Amino acid sequence: MKYEIVIGLETHVELSTESKIFCSCGGHSAAKEANDCVCPACSGMPGMLPVMNKRVVELAVTAGLMLNCEISRYTTFDKKNYYYPDLPCAYQITQLNHPICTNGLVTLKTSEGTRDIRIKQIHMEEDAGKLVHVGKASLVDFNRTSVPLIEIVTQPDFRSAEEVLVYLNKLKTMFRSGGISECEEGAMRCDVNISVRPEGSEEFGVRSEIKNMASFESIERAIRYEAQRHIDALEFETEELVQETRRFDDVSGKTFAMRNKETEADYRYFPDANLMPIIIDDEWLGQIKAAKPVEIDEKAEQYRDAGISDKEIDILIHNHNVSKLLDDVVAKGCDAKNAAGWILTDCAGIMRKNGKLISDLEITPEELTTIIKMVDSGDVNRMSGRKILTAVIEEGVDPVAYCKENGLDNKVDASVIEGVMDKVFQENAQAITDYKNGKVKAKQALFGACMRELKNTADTAVIKEILEKKLADL
Ligand code: ADP
Ligand code: MG
Ligand code: ZN
Repeated sequence: MKYEIVIGLETHVELSTESKIFCSCGGHSAAKEANDCVCPACSGMPGMLPVMNKRVVELAVTAGLMLNCEISRYTTFDKKNYYYPDLPCAYQITQLNHPICTNGLVTLKTSEGTRDIRIKQIHMEEDAGKLVHVGKASLVDFNRTSVPLIEIVTQPDFRSAEEVLVYLNKLKTMFRSGGISECEEGAMRCDVNISVRPEGSEEFGVRSEIKNMASFESIERAIRYEAQRHIDALEFETEELVQETRRFDDVSGKTFAMRNKETEADYRYFPDANLMPIIIDDEWLGQIKAAKPVEIDEKAEQYRDAGISDKEIDILIHNHNVSKLLDDVVAKGCDAKNAAGWILTDCAGIMRKNGKLISDLEITPEELTTIIKMVDSGDVNRMSGRKILTAVIEEGVDPVAYCKENGLDNKVDASVIEGVMDKVFQENAQAITDYKNGKVKAKQALFGACMRELKNTADTAVIKEILEKKLADL
């Protein structure tokens, strides 16, 4: 008999916020050593109260908009009770009764065509800590405790491992470009619910839930293994399938039973009375919608139309702050292709020289626009522009003041340039001879000598013009 695989996903995504969900400790990426980012609230000290991080709501709503969800205007938190050493309060704050987003839809492009996957809901919750096993001891690290997560739950609409991977990659690209999550290894974790049924059957089979997988490769292997186990069980009666929670072992490539599936009642959910319901009114929703980044494909198209190369587009769509900087300087009147060059060649080069990434770039759109316009207008030459840019990025100086203090503007009179050029011609007789003998490089040497005399400040276009005229007159 032929079988159909049925999969539903629960995907946990760590949000890129500066602080945790209910306290002011730094987010996950802020921690350098174990228990660096911990306070009485997130380590579960008695009497400490949670305070909602507004940014978490905004990022969750943005994710919901990207996945075409309905946004709840009234959303609440619940306590999910269970005991484990990495959970200091012995409950997790999550959303059961009024999740923030519901009824979404995402369309996938697969090798078989397009497929629609329904999103059941997105809810906000806090992460748990981590146990670290050292020899016989188990140590606990609370850095991750209360780091904000969204959990995206799909309907059981996937029919293959391929569809699951296309979906996860789509989420990853979307969330990275949208500034929702960096989705680095470990920041996106999946529970895979899977069952099989005879092809053509309407009824769902018994499902297993494979918990907490962080690598896409493991997810794919786990699905293939588990689907085959179910098919064998039905086809050859190798075992009786029960609804249960399993884990995937990377080394053996097999799944193992962990426990029978727990039900809602096992967790004694109840509303968290320490947190007020959140009301999302039209005004706030409007602001979140307005700030929502344009979807990837549309954005890429827009950059392509502006003449930006595919390689540059790839960097831009994966670095939200960088593309935002570009959009902002373009909004201030700079040409997109030219500005992209400034950001992805000049700024990136300066960052690299300092051992940093372009994603860590800190320059305001105002500063960058000022520099680009100084150069475009001919007030400052390209080389001086780069010098100013370097000082702004490395030392945080004001571009206009720096330019003035260092005499980098092109306020050199053409007559002065002509005088300097005469001097250069006298001092470089050999280069003149070379030029006459057809050595094109000699022209470059003369230009360079003149630039040096002028300390790189004059308008290069004017220098070139004077040089050409003099060479023609030889
Ligand atoms: P629970 O409350 O038991 O976790 P949910 O209704 O929240 O159940 O479903 C959890 C996930 O399991 C969802 O992603 C859903 O799509 C998926 N799912 C439910 N039934 C099946 C099934 N028979 N086969 C595969 N996945 C399923
Ligand atoms: Mg569930
Ligand atoms: Zn804290």
